[in-house]
Amino acid sequence: MGKEFATAINCIDGRVQKPGVEYMQRSFGVDYVDMVTEPGPNKILFENKNTNIIELLKKNVALSIEKHNSEIIVVVAHYDCAGNPENEDVQKKQLREALNVIMSWGFPVKKIIALWLDKNFEPNIVSQKIAISLYDLSASSVT
Ligand SMILES: [Zn+2]
Repeated sequence: MGKEFATAINCIDGRVQKPGVEYMQRSFGVDYVDMVTEPGPNKILFENKNTNIIELLKKNVALSIEKHNSEIIVVVAHYDCAGNPENEDVQKKQLREALNVIMSWGFPVKKIIALWLDKNFEPNIVSQKIAISLYDLSASSVT
């Protein structure tokens, strides 16, 4: 019986990892969530300028997908982020754009989700993309 993995691009903040993991387990029935962390990852992806960090994020996400067969990527941003001082509205805008950047990486995943953790660290979906164009639907009957 294989264990199922998802992949999170999350902040380094110690308050956000557990809510992120629990949300993914609850919503998608995965057993584990591989955690790729950078401070304020939505800002980094939105700006899409820091090639070194972007390449590292991409490499780690690729490893999670290749080795753990992850089919879902979530990008997490949160209230009171040390790495991203923008307000909630701006951060949510960055999250939406971050999804487009991740889509452009072309990984064969089923879903890419943007998650906002509010001041109580409660998860709220900001946006999600179902990567039909990237995924062979004929192989999806196993789910
Ligand atoms: Zn943060």
